[in-house]
Amino acid sequence: MSDITAGLLAELAALLGPRGLLTEAGDKAPYEEEMRRLFSGSALAIARPASTEELAATVKACHAVGVAMIPQGGNTGLVGGSVPDGSGKQLVISLGRMNRVRSVDTEGYTMVVEAGCILADVQAAAEAAGRLFPLSLAAQASCQIGGNLSSNAGGINTLRYGNTRDLVLGIEVVLPDGSVLDLMNALRKNNTGYDLKHLFLGGEGTLGIISAAVLKLFPAPKQTATAFIGLCDAGKAITLLSRLRAASGDSISAFELMERPALELCLEHIPATTNPLAGVHDFYVLCELTSPGTAFDLSALLMGVLEEALEEGLVEDATVAASLDQRTRLWHIREHIPEAQRKAGASIKNDISVPVAAVPALLERARAAVLERIPDARPIAFGHAGDGNIHFNISVPRGGDSKAFLQRWDEITDVVGDVALALGGSISAEHGIGRLKRDKLASLKSPAEMQVMRRIKAALDPSGLMNPGALL
Ligand SMILES: Cc1cc2nc3c(=O)[nH]c(=O)nc-3n(C[C@H](O)[C@H](O)[C@H](O)COP(=O)(O)OP(=O)(O)OC[C@H]3O[C@@H](n4cnc5c(N)ncnc54)[C@H](O)[C@@H]3O)c2cc1C
Repeated sequence: MSDITAGLLAELAALLGPRGLLTEAGDKAPYEEEMRRLFSGSALAIARPASTEELAATVKACHAVGVAMIPQGGNTGLVGGSVPDGSGKQLVISLGRMNRVRSVDTEGYTMVVEAGCILADVQAAAEAAGRLFPLSLAAQASCQIGGNLSSNAGGINTLRYGNTRDLVLGIEVVLPDGSVLDLMNALRKNNTGYDLKHLFLGGEGTLGIISAAVLKLFPAPKQTATAFIGLCDAGKAITLLSRLRAASGDSISAFELMERPALELCLEHIPATTNPLAGVHDFYVLCELTSPGTAFDLSALLMGVLEEALEEGLVEDATVAASLDQRTRLWHIREHIPEAQRKAGASIKNDISVPVAAVPALLERARAAVLERIPDARPIAFGHAGDGNIHFNISVPRGGDSKAFLQRWDEITDVVGDVALALGGSISAEHGIGRLKRDKLASLKSPAEMQVMRRIKAALDPSGLMNPGALL
């Protein structure tokens, strides 16, 4: 270790205290690897500041000696954006100790949180105040709001409330030189030039570290109606979505599509899972309507639309949850698909999106393209069809060689990605670019877009110290 590095660690130890700086291999390990183990590295140390002041001082100290920094939230990002490289020279900065909800304004419908707040805790604080923070995703028990903001997370409620970018009014950012950029605006209207927060939302920690945010809140739902629906084709699901949006005054908060193998995998691998419908269908939809009002009966409305759809042959069968317990059981299926797929062996994952109307074509063409290359592979497609966002995952053939299968990751994700792109879609709908898709970025953006992105990066981080190797 050079004198400069040793000096930095001594400075950080004095600044952050024993809980704030981890240097032992065993302590560092959980921060050095992402959950799918596609990316792992070795960190100089893990800094765990407990306040914006400590964070700013940490960044300033690294900037002074040219040490690269890797911002890390809950480390659930899935694209390798939050882990260090193998050099042992990069400092991981974990936001986990900056986890206070600073205030909730029930009349202004806003809340102020620190970046390290776990998403589920943000939701709970809003709920305790009789409000809703609608961002919701399967990793919510461990991902952090700072990570959600930096990856512009989507999740199950995007259809109704938008992506994370749409749920934030202001942020506070520590820039790569350690200065603090206070953009903690709580105004709904504020047209005073460039809205700089958008540079950092979805910026994947490459321009600075988000330390706090002003979030938008919504009235808490007073009614929820949840249905599990069987259909014979995906096109009918999209027609049903459109019809339900109009009939419910856009009260749909989730519209999750699953192909038959996704349900079958859950029934096989996840305890306490039962098929909610009597028959077998090629496609299933989990649809949820919510309303903060009680003027009309949401379940009756949902049932009315589904009855009409049944008569017309648009849907084959449906059940509407009659109790909270039944609703929980329906969601149990959707939420456990990734785990069921894990238990079924290795899988190649695609996080893609297309215009909503193109979802049926995506499913059909991607399946054909994959099976042409690996005839006995098992496509398990599911996802946020209401946003045109499908997780087109492919499980290893039964009894197949996992290692050989995973070696074809790039080939298969390229094939699926090409289908999405040909339909006017994206190869990164939710999870971002990180290190996993970095080398593809230039082929997805125009040269002019790439040039502007690089100029912004150079302007804010001329030494390239903030999350080098991610995104750009
Ligand atoms: C089971 C499962 C389900 C998921 N479902 C969804 C889903 O439905 N929708 C969706 O969008 N994503 C989903 N994800 C992906 C992931 O949960 C989200 O991307 C989440 O927003 C990441 O948050 P995190 O705190 O874990 O961030 P990390 O993984 O720690 O970091 C993500 C990126 O943000 C940067 N970063 C983290 N914190 C900060 C900060 N404070 N300031 C600046 N940069 C920072 C990191 O450097 C990295 O580049 C899922 C993941 C899992 C494991």
